[in-house]
Amino acid sequence: MKITFLGTGTAVDTKKAQSCILIEKSAKVIVDIGCGAFRRLGDVGVKVTDIDAVLLTHNHLDHNADLLPLLKARWLENAKKLDIYGPSGTKAYIESILEAYPYLRGKLNITVSEEKCFRVAGMKVRTVPTYHSIESRAYVFDDVLVVSGDTRPFRELLSTECEVMVHEMSLPSGFSEYHTTPDNFREYVKYLRANRLLFVHMYPHAYAVKEDILKSIGTGEVVADLTSIRI
Ligand SMILES: [Zn+2]
Ligand SMILES: [Zn+2]
Repeated sequence: MKITFLGTGTAVDTKKAQSCILIEKSAKVIVDIGCGAFRRLGDVGVKVTDIDAVLLTHNHLDHNADLLPLLKARWLENAKKLDIYGPSGTKAYIESILEAYPYLRGKLNITVSEEKCFRVAGMKVRTVPTYHSIESRAYVFDDVLVVSGDTRPFRELLSTECEVMVHEMSLPSGFSEYHTTPDNFREYVKYLRANRLLFVHMYPHAYAVKEDILKSIGTGEVVADLTSIRI
């Protein structure tokens, strides 16, 4: 399995793409597709028609803003069917896109699912509800890879045995109940069962002190846009 971080930024970043992770196995799967992610596909030589599935952790703009450009491009490029997965409300969100842009109705070759467990790219995928300001879900792939999406840390997710855990680390300590900070992460770090912990989704004022954050947690790495790893 190859994992490429196409976007590690947040809603305010202009130097990073927003949330997007490309997983390549027997198929190409994207987890979240925030603003700037569409452009990043070109950076790694992936065509818009190459994507088989998009998994949304939640429907905040920094996680889904480039879904619409992807759908339009795939229509124009006559792409095969795209499977979209997301939390409840995802079907309504797609319908609202079609209401806003009626010329796309009947053109998009997609399925939209709000299932909690499914298979994609030969992998068993399960979802874990997370603690965020709107309904949001983490994805667990084959008990190998975990992607947290936006959340404050919690035991059920952190204690998942896996090779790699991709977890958000949005803000410096004391800033948020809906996101991860060094303070709230430290409370749960003892439950961590991942072999490797990778942090993404750092707001600029957290990113500016990332070394201090890592030191205070005692584990983990901060990944940048276009970093690739293999599991
Ligand atoms: Zn969010
Ligand atoms: Zn976010």
